[in-house]
Amino acid sequence: MARYTGPVCRLCRREREKLYLKGSKCDTHCPIDKRNYPPGEHGRDRMRQGSEYSTQLREKQKARRIYGVLEKQFRNTFEEASRQDGITGENLLRMLELRLDNVVFRAGWGVSRSQSRQFVRHGFVKVNGRKATIPSMRLRRGDLVSLTEHARALEVVEGAASVNGRNTPAWLDSTTSNFEVQISNVPLREQIDVTVREQLIVELYSK
Ligand code: SF4
Repeated sequence: MARYTGPVCRLCRREREKLYLKGSKCDTHCPIDKRNYPPGEHGRDRMRQGSEYSTQLREKQKARRIYGVLEKQFRNTFEEASRQDGITGENLLRMLELRLDNVVFRAGWGVSRSQSRQFVRHGFVKVNGRKATIPSMRLRRGDLVSLTEHARALEVVEGAASVNGRNTPAWLDSTTSNFEVQISNVPLREQIDVTVREQLIVELYSK
């Protein structure tokens, strides 16, 4: 399954914004604090105010990078979002939030979405009692996501749970166990704390 494997901080620097792609490490050693300009030899030249198109493009890239989705899959998700009732941009973000790797991250089991994705790929996660190994799997209201017994005992999982200190979002019910969450509702836009202006993505793809 394809995924980005290059330098991670470069992605944030290109967007000139902390995207917190490395979890708790981002609070201590972040290159953005020292070099808040795009990477590369001509990075500083790219700091000029861009065109309307480049603003829209950057917003789309930012969303892709936050959720760790490659272009084709992102575009397909957008197409699906545009066919649904409601506001396309919000549908898009909701669908990205409901990816299995993101839910594992939101539950606080992984320090970052990429680590959460690894947990899924390594078979640490179950959906409705059955092992699920596809990070892009879309969850629905009522789905129960849990960690396997084996994963619960792993140091890396315990470590993530202790450093995270994140609040589980209101659309996830985590009252039964620390290692089990249920999708109690689909997330509303105000419950999705990403700094993406989704309307710009809609405008970009509508050209
Ligand atoms: Fe790197 Fe995290 Fe800073 Fe992004 S926020 S540049 S991933 S340390």
